[in-house]
Amino acid sequence: MPGLPKSNSANFHSAMSTFLASRLSRFLPSAATRVASYSSGLRAKKWVLVQHFDGFPKHTDFELHEEPLRALKDGEYLCEAEWVSVDPYQRAYTPNMQVPMTMIGLQCARVLESRAEGYPEGSYVVGGLGWRSHTIREASRDQGQLLPFATAPMPDLGNLSRSHSVGACGMPGNTAYFGLLELCQPKEGETVVVSGAAGAVGALVGQIAKIKGCHVVGFAGSDAKCDWLLSLGYDRAINYKTAKTSKALREAAPNGVDCYFDNVGGWLSDAVMCQMNLFGRVSLCGCIAGYNDPRGRRTLVPMLQMPMLMQQLRMEGFIVSRWSDRWQEGVTQMRDWLENDKIKAEETITEGFENLPEAFMGMLAGKNFGKAVVKV
Ligand code: NDP
Repeated sequence: MPGLPKSNSANFHSAMSTFLASRLSRFLPSAATRVASYSSGLRAKKWVLVQHFDGFPKHTDFELHEEPLRALKDGEYLCEAEWVSVDPYQRAYTPNMQVPMTMIGLQCARVLESRAEGYPEGSYVVGGLGWRSHTIREASRDQGQLLPFATAPMPDLGNLSRSHSVGACGMPGNTAYFGLLELCQPKEGETVVVSGAAGAVGALVGQIAKIKGCHVVGFAGSDAKCDWLLSLGYDRAINYKTAKTSKALREAAPNGVDCYFDNVGGWLSDAVMCQMNLFGRVSLCGCIAGYNDPRGRRTLVPMLQMPMLMQQLRMEGFIVSRWSDRWQEGVTQMRDWLENDKIKAEETITEGFENLPEAFMGMLAGKNFGKAVVKV
């Protein structure tokens, strides 16, 4: 077969013969059309992480590869990425994985061909398919797996952009929703502080806290981001790169801090923890301040035990898949808030599968307002 590498040719022919035999006879024209649609030169692109990150990611950590697609077997579907998400956990998780590997990541994809029940052609799926343009997926592989990393039919988002299935109505949205409401349990009139406030999760956390009637203070990395946070309804926003953080927080939160949604960790979190009120609650979502540390050289920060002890704080780390069994509840609530203009979900969109590493590094460097996502 022209265009197919030799090593795959035998498997391909055997799979194609089986497939054809099962479909030819009375339905020859439509069977031939189906085979042609996914075997006529369609190749999957994928971004491979070829070496572990050491410090801030570099272009040379990635390679763009291509591979041919084989025919589908029963129980499988073929999907094409429409939106691919870039997220900080891709930096944080990969040091424990074996390279070379296809980059991990969530995507929203359209089902092109299907021999799997529940995944009709033209429908959409969301899940951990990685940085791939096309994927053949065995549907049963995802049964019993935890959301958001299992690949499942996309929830109904009404007229909202499907990109929100990897954003405000997906993993980051549920991180904000459950992480804030379940662990911080903010009450009306309390002060909520959010670090990483202008990102995918943080921008939503502050808006949810406003819905709950709280005084909300956000930390972000530029004046433009701080202005944007105020436009979203944040009461105060502090540029952590230029402000004296402790002093600025004392002014922005004169009654002290009741809830802290921590996306960054490190020195900034130390400053916040030292201004917590008695029985304050800390939702430990992430620690991006340390993700890009060079290998073997972790940032050292002060002990948090003293403020925790003296103010009798409760700090709880979480991974959002903890609420896998309540996933739809979060998606439905976020969709409702978005549709009713109670929440805004800004996106920073990069065009083109080829630009995934650029979008990823841009997000880590703070170029994004709200959710960073790639349109394939
Ligand atoms: P963001 O959209 O917030 O993007 C990352 C942002 O981090 C950048 O825009 C940048 O904004 C900020 N940043 C980068 N370096 C630093 C630094 N050294 N100090 C402070 N801020 C920095 O990402 P997400 O909203 O997707 O994720 C936010 C956090 O939530 C991450 O820590 C992530 O790992 C965590 N997370 C945890 C989940 C869980 O289940 N526990 C699920 C999803 C996310 P700026 O310009 O303000 O510096």
